Amino acid sequence: MQTLTNKDKTYVANTYNRFPVELVSGKGSYFYDTNGKKYIDMGSGIGVNAFGTGDEIWKSAVISQLDKLQHTSNLYYTEPCAELAELLCQKTGMKKVFFSNSGAEANECAIKVARKWASDNKGADWYKIVTLVNSFHGRTITTLAATGQEHYHELFNPLTDGFIHTPANDTQALKKIVSENNIAAVMIECVQGEGGVIPLEADFVNEIGALSKEHNFLIIVDEVQTGNGRTGKMYAYMNFNISPDIVSTAKGLGGGLPIGAAILSERVEGVLGFGDHGSTYGGNPICAAAAVSVVSRLTDEFLAEVTVKSKFVFDFFKDVAGVEAISGMGLMIGIKTKKPAAEVVKAAMEKGVLCLTAKDKVRLLPPLNISMEDLKEAVDIIKSCL
Ligand SMILES: *Cc1c(COP(=O)(O)O)cnc(C)c1O
Repeated sequence: MQTLTNKDKTYVANTYNRFPVELVSGKGSYFYDTNGKKYIDMGSGIGVNAFGTGDEIWKSAVISQLDKLQHTSNLYYTEPCAELAELLCQKTGMKKVFFSNSGAEANECAIKVARKWASDNKGADWYKIVTLVNSFHGRTITTLAATGQEHYHELFNPLTDGFIHTPANDTQALKKIVSENNIAAVMIECVQGEGGVIPLEADFVNEIGALSKEHNFLIIVDEVQTGNGRTGKMYAYMNFNISPDIVSTAKGLGGGLPIGAAILSERVEGVLGFGDHGSTYGGNPICAAAAVSVVSRLTDEFLAEVTVKSKFVFDFFKDVAGVEAISGMGLMIGIKTKKPAAEVVKAAMEKGVLCLTAKDKVRLLPPLNISMEDLKEAVDIIKSCL
């Protein structure tokens, strides 16, 4: 136990305040630590392991691609990349996909597309992008600038210019900003994940749709956390009445391998040309094969089960003493507890359930295919920690 923890503390950069748990293996919705202790996984590696750990279908998709080739660079055509792009276009009705390795990079692509589109169509000084207060869009210098939380900014100024933050659900404030500035795009998370698992109000989202027509700007939806079945729809924007111009996604897309995507609508499919953007690994055959396996299993029937499980969790915690409020969508759930969230998460961990926090909430992002049995056991244990 000491050896691994000490080695990590000695050699890995101090950016993560890890829990005192050394995970060595897992299966489905369970993880096991170096002492053989079993945990129910209510975090799925922050919404990444969409089908849990070591899922057989996912594994065989990865292994069979490993047997063919692992990487070619983007100088050549490979099957998994093309197949994944086709699947994503079919599931969204959008037209083209740029692949990256992470959520932040998917957003970088979205931002570049928006800037070039605006420059081509409106003029070079129409580069401003509006994002929401309390949003989270990534850790690169530009996606930090997009992130509407000052405490992420402070240490790293100057950040990329051109972002304006406005409060979520404040239609009047947004209207004023888009009328007074040269706006290329508005970028939102339909459910603010890191910000505390807070869905946007439908009226506000609808208003963004209306304003985008009136003022001719793009809508970018950051579906890095909310995407790929997490909210009970393929993408969270499908719970609302808007048609995004660009959808960025990552996390659950590869089911545990690093892949991100910027999905482009007809309006922007031609914005990037040869050499305008690129990535060495983007659309890598192994990661793309993993993602094909994930996305092709997100059928309507499967997504309906996600919604059933979601309702079960919401109903379960609704009247529990110790719970102040519950928010979220699908299997992306935030519980405002009377006790500090960190204490609840620690107690649950000791009792064998791994949960996350988001701001002052206990955050649950279980594998989408978690069994009802495991889900019930996990929520009972969490309840006993409240
Ligand atoms: C996690 C997250 C990101 C960043 O993704 P990385 O893969 O860590 O770069 C961006 N946007 C949202 C909404 C996220 O939840």
